[in-house]
Amino acid sequence: MSIVSIVQLPTKVLREKAREVSAKEITSPRIQELISRMKKTLAASENGVGLAAPQIGESLQIFLVSEEAEEIDKGRPPTVTEASPPQDPETKLQKRTWRYDVFINPKIKKISRKKNEFPEGCLSVVGKFGIVPRPEKITVEAYDENGKKFVRSATKFVARVIQHELDHLQGVLFIDKATQMLASEHNTS
Ligand SMILES: [Zn+2]
Repeated sequence: MSIVSIVQLPTKVLREKAREVSAKEITSPRIQELISRMKKTLAASENGVGLAAPQIGESLQIFLVSEEAEEIDKGRPPTVTEASPPQDPETKLQKRTWRYDVFINPKIKKISRKKNEFPEGCLSVVGKFGIVPRPEKITVEAYDENGKKFVRSATKFVARVIQHELDHLQGVLFIDKATQMLASEHNTS
């Protein structure tokens, strides 16, 4: 399996404003292949819960949010990083395959005034973590990978991941917003 490596700072694409994907383009082989590559890249990452297209070098308004972020909100410890030997079918069954929600051309419809502070990291800023204040709730309108428009409201950690990914599409990174840098490990996106 060919996994694209995740673009790291100071690569320019991480600081660019990503362009919108036209309605016709969404179902094109190029965009479908890109989404599939993003899913594989996120699945292969050790502790990623989201990924934006610029992180694999494509300046397009597409990002993924992993179902794992919802599980983290429910207080369940993530199990995805557990390595299982391929010859052990029992262990293999226990390993979760997360659903990845695709957001294309996302627009913020509503955002709460109330903010939360929480540690964040980024797959493109390896080894750095910081406390980032962000609105607690967000409602986003976007297109899915089939070109269907949807509205998603999120709170807590999922809302945070969505905002982190929205920032990627504007060339903004968590280090721009962190009020304090940390030295421990957390889920990254
Ligand atoms: Zn990131």
